[in-house]
Amino acid sequence: MSELEQLLRSRGYRLTNQRRVIVRELEGDRHLSAEEIYDRVKGRFPELGLSTVYRTLDLLHELGIVRKEDFGEGYSRYELTTERMHHHARCGECGTVIEFNEELMEYLALQVERETGFVTDWHEITLHGRCKNCA
Ligand SMILES: [Zn+2]
Ligand SMILES: [Zn+2]
Repeated sequence: MSELEQLLRSRGYRLTNQRRVIVRELEGDRHLSAEEIYDRVKGRFPELGLSTVYRTLDLLHELGIVRKEDFGEGYSRYELTTERMHHHARCGECGTVIEFNEELMEYLALQVERETGFVTDWHEITLHGRCKNCA
């Protein structure tokens, strides 16, 4: 039994084909929107509707299997929580998402703590600008 299947079972859910297909897409590529996942799988799984993709992503998010990300586009993007923690920089021209290292943020959080005494538990940072090709 896969780890994903075990997790779902322990919460009383089955690993349906739809859930498996969606998680597999996110294993192949990160930062996908529901529409992008739908576009990628609809040819192979015509019975899988866009609303099912949304519902499945909501469930996977609730169960802590996917992270939901808002890059200011008016919709969410998703990636698996098993991905190494990282932050994002998004190009406003072409939409490219660049990942950058978590350590930089930890360093920043430490600096903030040193200056203000604020202790950071959690941070979620997206930089907005233009990528190398668009700048
Ligand atoms: Zn990411
Ligand atoms: Zn760009």
